Amino acid sequence: MAVKLPIYMDNAATTRTDPRVVEAMLPYFTEKFGNSASRNHKFGWEGEDAVDRAREQAAALIGASPKEIVWTSGSTESNNLAIKGAARMYAKAPEGQTGRGHIITAAHEHKAVLDPCKRLQNEGFEVTFLQPPADGVITRQMVAEAMRDDTILVSIMWTNNEIGTINEVPEIGALCHERGVIFHTDATQWVGKMPTDVEKDHIDLMSWSGHKMYGPKGVGALYVRRRNPRVRLEAIQDGGGHERGMRSGTLNVTGIVGLGKACELALQEMDTDHERLLNLRRKLERELSSRLEVTQVNGHLERRVPHILNISFGFVEGESLLMGIKDIACSSGSACTSASLEPSYVLKSLGVGDELAHSSLRLSLGRWSTEEEIDYAIEGIVKAVNHLRTMSPLWDLHKEGIDVSKIEWQTH
Ligand SMILES: *Cc1c(COP(=O)(O)O)cnc(C)c1O
Repeated sequence: MAVKLPIYMDNAATTRTDPRVVEAMLPYFTEKFGNSASRNHKFGWEGEDAVDRAREQAAALIGASPKEIVWTSGSTESNNLAIKGAARMYAKAPEGQTGRGHIITAAHEHKAVLDPCKRLQNEGFEVTFLQPPADGVITRQMVAEAMRDDTILVSIMWTNNEIGTINEVPEIGALCHERGVIFHTDATQWVGKMPTDVEKDHIDLMSWSGHKMYGPKGVGALYVRRRNPRVRLEAIQDGGGHERGMRSGTLNVTGIVGLGKACELALQEMDTDHERLLNLRRKLERELSSRLEVTQVNGHLERRVPHILNISFGFVEGESLLMGIKDIACSSGSACTSASLEPSYVLKSLGVGDELAHSSLRLSLGRWSTEEEIDYAIEGIVKAVNHLRTMSPLWDLHKEGIDVSKIEWQTH
């Protein structure tokens, strides 16, 4: 079967919306366009019913009750509301004073967690950014060691979006509950792909997003625990008092219907998706590692979600590698900041050198990835890496048995 180009291998950045999701959404643009807050007529009731159904679908996916779901515009907003909302609500001193409380997060979290935490630092909170070990996994032990008497909030993501590693979330949640500390997890790359139970996993606040799980963009959810303990949040956006006062603004009914449907499908197809993607990723990983020398899979080899592979290739230049695989849409270990190309801060935090970080690829699979695409990507990447190495003087030295690692990385 011919492969349609370009191949999409960037599902950790966003996913294609499932056509069944689109179909569920369509009536809510036109016939059923009511504002779910309109209490006096059928249009409003239809909107409200749709939102209620989506709340049930989302809650069912994570073992929550529908009342514990707060709709947002995506994980960035969910993280902001959870982190700033909880910190400000449970602050130990008023704004403008120091000693307002201690927060624990990790250095390789998504910017949508790091930046709210940095803002809270400016407001008088103290934040510990845990340095991950080389395998990228944050453990209960690390959080326990960072915990203080004045710790009010822990925010540790479930799965890292660049390397796919799985942190010890249920264990960290249990620790937080033992110590009476609020626990938030950014579960954007986890929910819908792996079984989730907010009770068993001891979660108080959990963010996830429609467009990372075959739903639409611009809609997300925040789980907010209502009992044992009841978690309260200070709102960021005021007006109207929607979502129990935590997130005012007319609900994105269409998007919410889509996210609800995406949650329902995820629950139904989780097992089959999981097994299929795991096999595909394993093939990709196995072939690239065995057919190319000097490759390195980044992050823990077992504690990983099925859909993400982050792999570095020594002796190739990152930008040239991307140019060489133009018909494979994926992410690199570099981030474009203003003018320069910066190595990924996530890979750096694991101790991956700048050069190797630049020559890394994040290949992320999804519901529509096929075996033919995987085969095509393997051939394309192997060919590109081999080609670039034939032009590399350092590769020649390496092949002659000279240790060039020092020449190559130490000057940076
Ligand atoms: C994509 C992503 C986000 C941001 O989600 P949006 O819905 O795009 O705002 C946050 N955290 C992680 C781990 C992500 O992968």
